[in-house]
Amino acid sequence: MTGLEAIPKIAVLLSQLIARVKDRKAAALVQQILQHQLVIQKELMAAHAKISQTERDHANVIAEINERHAKTIAHLNEKIAKFQSEMEIRYHAGTEFRRGKKTGEKWQPFCPDCGLPLNIPTRNYQLSCACGWESNIWKAQLPGIVARFVP
Ligand SMILES: [Zn+2]
Repeated sequence: MTGLEAIPKIAVLLSQLIARVKDRKAAALVQQILQHQLVIQKELMAAHAKISQTERDHANVIAEINERHAKTIAHLNEKIAKFQSEMEIRYHAGTEFRRGKKTGEKWQPFCPDCGLPLNIPTRNYQLSCACGWESNIWKAQLPGIVARFVP
């Protein structure tokens, strides 16, 4: 039983008590208790209604935020799908190669960790990324690897 359920039951019990009390002074005291009890009940009901409204407001705000995020996620997924459809991607020895509008339709190596284009050294060294990732592919191997990609 909650407090809100108990209070009306107390009111009923007090009314029964008033009916049984023969002494008028005692009946008046119980009547006063009943009046105080009604004040408490009214305030508790108002507080409960206010809390319920706050909970509904909170739930509505969360629902609005979720709806906005869902739209943003859907928008970003569309952009990703569009970007991926514009880029061909191949992997060789753990290195990502991309070809599309952004690479001038030529195969270029990219970092599989951070997605940045890999540094192609001037001499025959391993390809590497600014983030610290190192490819197993050496510069001299690039033309042969790219030539084997199926168009
Ligand atoms: Zn990287």
